[in-house]
Amino acid sequence: MPDNLKEKKQNQCSVCKNKYSPKQTVPLATIRDSLLKYVFKSTPDADIENGYICLNDLNKA
Ligand SMILES: [Zn+2]
Repeated sequence: MPDNLKEKKQNQCSVCKNKYSPKQTVPLATIRDSLLKYVFKSTPDADIENGYICLNDLNKA
């Protein structure tokens, strides 16, 4: 695998759709129900099992 692909490992936030390094995101599977409701308000089809939320949105929720 080319190095430039390896370096680009980023997670997409389900709320703002921006990509962040794994350190700046939290898996949706690990957040509280009240936060999940916040995610689904902006993204009704968010993927709970594989999706992420960035820390910025987590703080806003
Ligand atoms: Zn976000």
